[in-house]
Amino acid sequence: MDTLRGMVPASLDIRWFFNALLTFISFFAVQELAYVFYSPPAVFPIASGVALAALVLGGITLAPAIFFAALVSYLWHGGSATISIVLAFSHVAQASIGAYVLVRFKLDPLLRRMRDMFALMAVAVFGGMIAPSLGVLAYYLLDRPLAISWGDWWIAHMMSLVVVSPLIIRWVSKPYFTRTWMQWLEIAVALGALFTVSYLIAWTTFTSIGGVSLVYALFIPLFWIALRQGPRFMSLAIIGMVGIVLLGVAFGPAGAASPLPLGRRLLNAELFLGMFSIIFYVLVAIEDERRHAVGTLRDHIRKLEEAVAVITSENRAKSEFLAVLAHELRNPLAPLRSMLDTIKIGGMKASSDFIDIASASVSTMARLLDDLLDLSRISQRKFKLRLEKVELCELVERAIRNVSGQIVNSSHTVMFTMPEIRLYITADPVRIEQVVLNLLNNSLKYTPPGGEVRVFLEHTENEAIIRVKDNGIGIESGMLDRIFDPFVQVGVNGKSGTGLGIGLSLTKDLVVMHGGRIDVQSPGLGRGSEFIVRLPLAEVQEARTSVPSKDTPARLRKSVPRKIGIVDDHVVAAESLARLLKHMGHEVRTGYDGVGAVSLVKEFKPDIVLLDIGLPDMNGYEVARILRGVERYSGRLVALTGYGQEEDRQKAIDAGFDQHLTKPIGVADLEAVFAKFALVEKIQA
Ligand code: ADP
Repeated sequence: MDTLRGMVPASLDIRWFFNALLTFISFFAVQELAYVFYSPPAVFPIASGVALAALVLGGITLAPAIFFAALVSYLWHGGSATISIVLAFSHVAQASIGAYVLVRFKLDPLLRRMRDMFALMAVAVFGGMIAPSLGVLAYYLLDRPLAISWGDWWIAHMMSLVVVSPLIIRWVSKPYFTRTWMQWLEIAVALGALFTVSYLIAWTTFTSIGGVSLVYALFIPLFWIALRQGPRFMSLAIIGMVGIVLLGVAFGPAGAASPLPLGRRLLNAELFLGMFSIIFYVLVAIEDERRHAVGTLRDHIRKLEEAVAVITSENRAKSEFLAVLAHELRNPLAPLRSMLDTIKIGGMKASSDFIDIASASVSTMARLLDDLLDLSRISQRKFKLRLEKVELCELVERAIRNVSGQIVNSSHTVMFTMPEIRLYITADPVRIEQVVLNLLNNSLKYTPPGGEVRVFLEHTENEAIIRVKDNGIGIESGMLDRIFDPFVQVGVNGKSGTGLGIGLSLTKDLVVMHGGRIDVQSPGLGRGSEFIVRLPLAEVQEARTSVPSKDTPARLRKSVPRKIGIVDDHVVAAESLARLLKHMGHEVRTGYDGVGAVSLVKEFKPDIVLLDIGLPDMNGYEVARILRGVERYSGRLVALTGYGQEEDRQKAIDAGFDQHLTKPIGVADLEAVFAKFALVEKIQA
């Protein structure tokens, strides 16, 4: 294969050879055609237009082809060797400089912008001076007679460049195009009109109507083409018109009647046609650019309209969502309020039923708010995972234990099948537990009482798989794709479940953030569902060392009695938390503002202060700074806030807090914090 490749010339060389040959033939042929019209002072260096186009399209490497084509042509027509070489060189110099300028100018060969056409016209007008100047100089130095003046020669070159180069550049750079048959008809009529008028002017004696020259009639089809058909057909129109008029002037019947010699008449026609061409090329470019600008503008307007539609629908979705949120938050509040009212009017004592309902309601609300906060943090990319090595069996068991109260109430059966080995993943344990909890909660919610939920923990070579399968209400196949989108709830019999429709979206985000994926399967409505979570496996360990405990609710650990200060401007919140802590065996004092906090610390000397951040006289961060600074308080400071963002946490730590808790806090949160403090103290001791 390699030897073959060595024998075949590079494709670039073949292409160059082909282009060079084409340039040589075109230049030579067009030059020959020009001799047909040769009639000083009119000359027709049409080939200079070919040369410029060839170098713009094919590059400067085609210059030798032009040189030799010109040389052969001049010698062929009896030119002396010196003059032929100079003239051939003048062609090459003019085309090369023109092409260099246009390439540097980044000419778009489709000539769609005004600047491209202006550049091309400028090169035609000014670049067209190069060849005549070199030619005149050579004739002068060699002391040869010259039949034409520099000006006549320049006009000839300029016209060739104006008429021929745009035609070749435009058509060769994009030969293929499509038009509807109506457009073809329009093009045919416009070109037909232009060529007919050109013919009448140059070939017949019918050159005016009622004393008005037919030349004016040329404007009509030319404007038409400029405004509707673009540079491609304008170049065709111009070459056609120029051809018909020049042939008519040279060979038509009108010439005989004219008092001017043929050469002069041809030169006049050349000047006239050159000017006409420049005007209409510029016009077509202006119109083309305008058309493109309008197209772009329309495009932008369409995109803007689409964006407005998206914003409107998002806005509507948000309004709907707020309504659902209000509804969902009211739901758990309703039983709380009625039971509180009953207690207030002395109808009943705070029974354990009430406590169960109240704590369930509070958990529901807290969960809803947590989910909302998480979702917004994820969407703002502010969510951070605290990754560590996590054993999955224990984690899933913990999640099942968490819902065990619910299971007892709803008389569901939950079964957990796990492997006889330990599966480790690198994950944020809180978040993965949240994933399993969400799926379990959904299964319990969407499975009628008495139903069955099975949890399977499995693994492949590099994935841990958690499957949560229920025999509940199931999901219709059309909804399976959408179920993980935020705020999507599937209504069954016109009713949606309780919730905001963000649980699964959050679950999916969390799984994806861990490098995993989640899928759902359901054979259809009423036939159960199965959610499958796959997470990258970090490690597998043989033989479990501890047998997991059965589904028992977590017991509270009794912590060491401590002196605890609570500072919160919400008096009821402070007092109820105080009551809870006292019940847990601690000694407690309360304060309600920053000043109160300082005096509480001075007098009571608590081990731990639970400090609200939003206080009436100063904020909790300031209080913490005073306590740590002036008061030299060395006990534990815990911030209590409604803001759970990472930066709030950081702010608290910076102000001197040991811990940051997001409201509402329950026994478990307090126990966890106290246990942590106890552990730290033990280590320090
Ligand atoms: P929601 O707060 O409504 O439960 P989710 O995002 O958790 O929000 O779930 C979205 C929808 O998916 C639910 O409204 C419910 O229709 C459907 N769904 C979720 N889990 C199950 C399941 N195990 N069985 C049947 N439908 C489910």
